[in-house]
Amino acid sequence: MSSTTAGSFSSTSTAAAKNDEAETLRRNRILSSKLYFDVPPSKVPLIYSPSYDIAFLGIEKLHPFDSSKWGRICQFLIVAGLLEKKRIVEPLESTKDDLLVVHPESYLNSLKSSSNVAIIVEVPPVAVLPNCVVQQKVLSPFRKQVGGTILAAKLAKERGWAINVGGGFHHCSAAKGGGFCAYADISLCIHFAFARLNISRVMIIDLDAHQGNGHELDFSSDRRVYILDMYNPHIYPFDYEARRYIDQQIEVPTGTLTSDYLSKLDEALEVASRNFSPELIVYNAGTDILDGDPLGRLKISPEGIATRDEKVFSFARERSIPLVMLTSGGYMKSSARVIADSIINLSKKSFIDLQSSPGKI
Ligand SMILES: [Zn+2]
Repeated sequence: MSSTTAGSFSSTSTAAAKNDEAETLRRNRILSSKLYFDVPPSKVPLIYSPSYDIAFLGIEKLHPFDSSKWGRICQFLIVAGLLEKKRIVEPLESTKDDLLVVHPESYLNSLKSSSNVAIIVEVPPVAVLPNCVVQQKVLSPFRKQVGGTILAAKLAKERGWAINVGGGFHHCSAAKGGGFCAYADISLCIHFAFARLNISRVMIIDLDAHQGNGHELDFSSDRRVYILDMYNPHIYPFDYEARRYIDQQIEVPTGTLTSDYLSKLDEALEVASRNFSPELIVYNAGTDILDGDPLGRLKISPEGIATRDEKVFSFARERSIPLVMLTSGGYMKSSARVIADSIINLSKKSFIDLQSSPGKI
């Protein structure tokens, strides 16, 4: 009997040692990453790169996703006279070492198969493309957006807020991609913030129409992360395991109208503020809740989306919590306009400032 005890003790300590080793490796990878670079005061905390946009031989048209929406959002802001191109922050592409902070090597290797990537991005013809093409035209834009999400937390800490005009791949966990999400940018962003920003409590406010099963699985037992997820339970991904890890679950069924949606959000934010005191908020601001979106199946008006975003920014500002906003899902051609209008509204109401130099929240 004593030998069994000794045996289990030694296997426990071996597991603990392995865990420590993995933590040290993760930390070293984060500390040696180049993704956190210094952004000069002449730039505003709005992050985008032309290489976010996926456009390749028309395959982008095979997915209901408007794969140039990120660039169109910025274009709308520039045309509105709100943003100057030279003030946009361009992130670096996340490297393999950056991605290994969260993803196992086996997962990254699985992306060397074009058919696996085709399943993740839901574009079957991608399966027949040479993998080097898939890497360059499909995965590289995603990796750039991941770099943007990670950098956004640093900028939010410095400036009070940051918007990555992209990212929000909330269906991808460390071990598995899906639903157009190949990399777990939210999990990566939070691990970088833990190690580099002296932050130990993060709230994810996930208001995309879909359940954010990726970050839920990744932070299942991590008490440093509080997850508020408001989603339509009648659509993808039906991840019942991941639902167990949501701290605050608000189901908005198919057909939910704007007024109902916004009052549920008010209530949810109220409860969240009583339950948890974050040092950083990651806001996954998917616009597939928009009325007419074939995938989200909710009936929220464009004005409702602007009000929703305003409520989250107001929640963060009242409590002086740095806020990262990610654009996430939004599958109609009109999404870019709606997101741009919401950003314009945030600026008009002085929640953000895209014109003057930093220091203002
Ligand atoms: Zn979605």
